[in-house]
Amino acid sequence: MSRAARAVWIAALLGAAGLAADGWRTEPDPRVLDHYRRDIRELQALDARIDGQVMQSRQALVAHYDGIVQTMTDTNTVLARLERVEDLEGPADRERVVSGLGALRASLAEKAALVESFKSENAILRNSVRYFPIAAKRLRDELAASPETQRLAADVNDVLVSVLELNETPSSEEAWSRAQSSIDTLSVLVVPLGMEEDFEVVLRHAQTVVDRGVRVDAMTADILAVPSASDAVAVDTALERAMRDAYRRADHRKIVLFVTLLGAVVGLSVDIILRLRRSAAQERKATARLAEANEILVREKERERELLELKSRFISMTSHEFRTPLAVILSSTELLEAYGERWTPAKRADHFARIKDATAGMEQMLDSILVIGKSDSGKLEYNPVRLDLARWTHHLVDAFRPTLTKSHSLEASIDAALAEACVDEKLLNHIVTNLLSNAVKYSPAGGVVRFAVKRDGDRAVFVVTDDGIGIPAQDQPMLFDSFHRCSNVGHIRGTGLGLAVVKRAIEAHRGELHLASDVGRGTTFTVSIPLGALHELVE
Ligand code: ATP
Ligand code: MG
Repeated sequence: MSRAARAVWIAALLGAAGLAADGWRTEPDPRVLDHYRRDIRELQALDARIDGQVMQSRQALVAHYDGIVQTMTDTNTVLARLERVEDLEGPADRERVVSGLGALRASLAEKAALVESFKSENAILRNSVRYFPIAAKRLRDELAASPETQRLAADVNDVLVSVLELNETPSSEEAWSRAQSSIDTLSVLVVPLGMEEDFEVVLRHAQTVVDRGVRVDAMTADILAVPSASDAVAVDTALERAMRDAYRRADHRKIVLFVTLLGAVVGLSVDIILRLRRSAAQERKATARLAEANEILVREKERERELLELKSRFISMTSHEFRTPLAVILSSTELLEAYGERWTPAKRADHFARIKDATAGMEQMLDSILVIGKSDSGKLEYNPVRLDLARWTHHLVDAFRPTLTKSHSLEASIDAALAEACVDEKLLNHIVTNLLSNAVKYSPAGGVVRFAVKRDGDRAVFVVTDDGIGIPAQDQPMLFDSFHRCSNVGHIRGTGLGLAVVKRAIEAHRGELHLASDVGRGTTFTVSIPLGALHELVE
């Protein structure tokens, strides 16, 4: 999870860095737009100036063309500047502006060509407009001076008036036809001798004003009709749209960049939180492990303390318990030594039996101490062997019977279906023998001890019942403690080790023990142990 969060924020950060770098590279420069727009405005102004200058030339308000030529040059310079559109982003945007500029260049070229023609046509017209009135007036005055040519003077005057009128109102059809017809009239009249050239000059200028005036007007209209102004507007619009798109894209990129950065920040935060949580969890785990280790240490110390206590109790108890049989052995041996030869064989045998009993008792005690000691230090060996439980129990009962006194009897019920079991024979012997001997020992008034062994599923159940003194309730919790003897034992001898051994032997078999007892009425011990699996066998 933390690894995924780290991958997310690193990827987002890289993405953001890439976007930022790309953004810096492609972000439109507002100064570029300003330059373009200023150039377009200038171009529009220059274009309008050309139109104005053409009109002024047509109306003879300016005599030369330097202004127009300069304006045309300026226009081309600005256009060339505009055509450097490499700063614009994106092929589509560039395309739109470039094609707009192409159209603009074409219309400006068309205008330039028209202006060129206009210049020459207008120059001729201007020349005739200037010289025609002078030549016509001179001819009219000369003709008017002589009576025979006065009529001709009137015709020349007609031409003069109508042509000047046409020059004033160039678009008037009526003025044009009047001027043309006056020229036509004059041109067919007989010219006085010696004046042909003057007539020729007047007529040529008059005809020029009539013809060129119309042409120059048409040219002026053509120049004004060239769509350079609208083309410049189109370029401006395309440029503005391109820039708007570029800004929108830049904004979009900024949003994506912001979102990506946000993603990186969120990823980073999640990563940090997860790391913190993980380290907190690790810390918690470590603390828990430490606490556990501490607990184990405390438990072990406690166990060690208990063991030590047990050991010292063991030593004091055993030394105490050993003292009695040892004293018996010592006194019998001394007596035998001193009086043995004088004693009857029966008396000697009695003392030998005492020595044997004491020794056997010590041996059993040692055996029990060994089992308990090994079990408490976790070293009790569990050696399961294949055993025919029914046969084994029969043998045990047969061996036990001779130890019974006359006042006791043993009723054994052994289930023949017990068949084979996988048990530790020595430990099982401790269990059964201890329970049977207790049943007898704690029934001082005598009685019947019942012993049943049966099979319950995959378990063997041993039940020992007596009608003896019973076990007081307050003693039951300590019943299996080493050396614990119940409050009601009276003079009955014992060390309090038997049941401690029984308990450990049952534990080694993973068995269970159940006790039911009534003081003064009797006790029932029920032991259940698994028959065991054959793979547990020690061959
Ligand atoms: P040991 O068995 O070592 O010779 P013990 O019989 O006193 O000595 P346990 O067999 O461990 O020791 O029994 C502990 C105590 O439990 C006995 O002292 C006795 O008080 C009580 N007890 C055991 N079995 C019976 C029983 N069947 N009826 C009454 N009390 C019993
Ligand atoms: Mg006992």
